[in-house]
Amino acid sequence: MADIIQLLPDHVANQIAAGEVVQRPASVVKELLENAIDASATIIKLIIKDAGKTLVQVIDDGKGMSVTDARLSFERHATSKIRTADDLFQLNTKGFRGEALASIAAIAHVELKTKQENEDVGTRIEIEGSTVNSQEVVVTPKGTSISVKNLFYNIPARRNFLKSNTVESRHIIDEFHRVALAHPNISFVMFHNGSESFNLPESNYRQRIVNIFGTKTNEKLVPVDEDTEVLKISGFVGKPEFAKKTRGEQFFFVNDRFIKSAYLNHAIGSAFEGLLKDGTHASYFLNLTVNPQTIDINIHPTKTEIKFNDEHTLYAILRSSVKHSLGQFNIAPVLDFERDANLDTPYSYQQKGSPSIEVDRSFNPFQEKQISGKQTTAFKKQTAGNWDSLYVGLESKGTQTQQDFKEVSFESDTKNESIFDNDNQVEQKQSTYQFRNKYIVSTIKSGMLLIDQHRAHQRVLYEDFLKNMTIKEAMSQQLLFPLQLHFSPQEIEIINQLKTDLEHSGFIFQTIKGELVEISGVPVSVPESEVSIILEQLISDVENEVPDSNFSATDLLAKSLAKSLAIKTGQSLTIMEQEHLVNSLFACKEPNVSPTNRTTFVTMTVDELDKKFV
Ligand code: ADP
Ligand code: MG
Repeated sequence: MADIIQLLPDHVANQIAAGEVVQRPASVVKELLENAIDASATIIKLIIKDAGKTLVQVIDDGKGMSVTDARLSFERHATSKIRTADDLFQLNTKGFRGEALASIAAIAHVELKTKQENEDVGTRIEIEGSTVNSQEVVVTPKGTSISVKNLFYNIPARRNFLKSNTVESRHIIDEFHRVALAHPNISFVMFHNGSESFNLPESNYRQRIVNIFGTKTNEKLVPVDEDTEVLKISGFVGKPEFAKKTRGEQFFFVNDRFIKSAYLNHAIGSAFEGLLKDGTHASYFLNLTVNPQTIDINIHPTKTEIKFNDEHTLYAILRSSVKHSLGQFNIAPVLDFERDANLDTPYSYQQKGSPSIEVDRSFNPFQEKQISGKQTTAFKKQTAGNWDSLYVGLESKGTQTQQDFKEVSFESDTKNESIFDNDNQVEQKQSTYQFRNKYIVSTIKSGMLLIDQHRAHQRVLYEDFLKNMTIKEAMSQQLLFPLQLHFSPQEIEIINQLKTDLEHSGFIFQTIKGELVEISGVPVSVPESEVSIILEQLISDVENEVPDSNFSATDLLAKSLAKSLAIKTGQSLTIMEQEHLVNSLFACKEPNVSPTNRTTFVTMTVDELDKKFV
């Protein structure tokens, strides 16, 4: 038989290698920025068009390249950064594989302009799909400019796979942040579609963080400094009261290189133990310096993962120095020791049986309360004693029908609120009356109560959703056929932002792809026919809310869902439903006002009534 093995042509090999190095425009951004830093640039400019799909350009004032180096830089395994395998363990540069430029040139239209300090003229090279189209002498400032156009132009499958511009820009901004945070001593400017998105002058670390994340960040930062033989730590952690629901502001840099480490992240988490509200994450901006010989950064092609020789020691040092800083900067007083720790204990700690502290004073997700029979969830079955059933319930979700939940709610509804006239309850006679399908009239010890049914029910649902989202365990009803809903890219972006909270409130998303959302489960309180209206309402609520740093997606979501689902004015209610509503309202944390701060009920005492009859 004839020989069948052939060597792949270079451009094919480069395209394959490109798949590893370049996943999306943000990967190009990272590689080009890192090259500029390795070239000792002091000012780096990043120019982006269409989320990098049309153009990624990096201009630096670094040392530039000679004519020969300029040409060689696009060859595979061409690097000026290591000479022998041993050098890998002494790395002080970002690059070392010599793959980035070759890979990028294999899948894009690339133009390089570069000039070294003492030369009069520089070199310009145009390369496209690994083929050099032109090389010429050019007048250009000292340093290097590389523009990468039409990424994946020759791999349509990859190009189509790119996400929306919003998502791709997010990735680019993330990379930009990482590089800029690791190098506060370098100026960075970023332009997107012609407008300046960031202008970061050379500064100290704190200023760099503030310049990126906003002036308000300044007061949140607690410095961390530690110098030991094996590890030097510098940087900041965020005060616990500013902890976020998202993990956005968590940065580790090891020897000036951004890394991800679940293990070290855990060390921070444990230093913050007891200080954070459940479901929130500490922010941190920490620079770790270790001997390069004790780490291996070569284990991942995109180089955000790292192997440490002695992880356990690093963990312990990191944990104790963060703890120390939190203690030293007097973080403790934000804690509230007066509350009943049993009631407040978050689930994760309850499982471990250890005491813990709830920082949020206004909201207790574990308080038992009644819910209207119409819109109930299975949650009310939970009591402090059967935590386990929550988890079981989650697994078996979908097998129960809405009907089951209705029954559950009626059985368990045995609330005796002391605010109500006890005589009435003994006699078991009708204690509520619906007036004009708008108000519910009831008696209390001191007199009479008038409740706005729509506002009251909003309050009940609002607290219920908030509770579910906080403890992240809501019951879903599985849909027989997944719902397919279409949204604009901008709306999809919003849904993606809210996805986690929506899931915690009981939505199950099968896919969110392109402009299509497939939903296979909804909260038990949401009728299938209303899902699309509810989501639209939610999106418009989010769009109309002025986004600022205090903007809480969870709160907004709970409000919006409550508004959509609450019993409307004009809806007639059975006696049972009226009673449920009244009971549920007074089991709320803040029964007096609706989620939008409107009065939910008024009272009139017997005295006041008597006065009217003089
Ligand atoms: P690596 O960074 O792993 O060495 P790259 O493909 O990213 O590989 O770059 C290849 C080489 O091209 C680098 O080693 C460097 O010598 C040179 N180079 C790339 N970008 C620049 C730049 N902005 N300024 C100066 N030299 C550069
Ligand atoms: Mg490189």
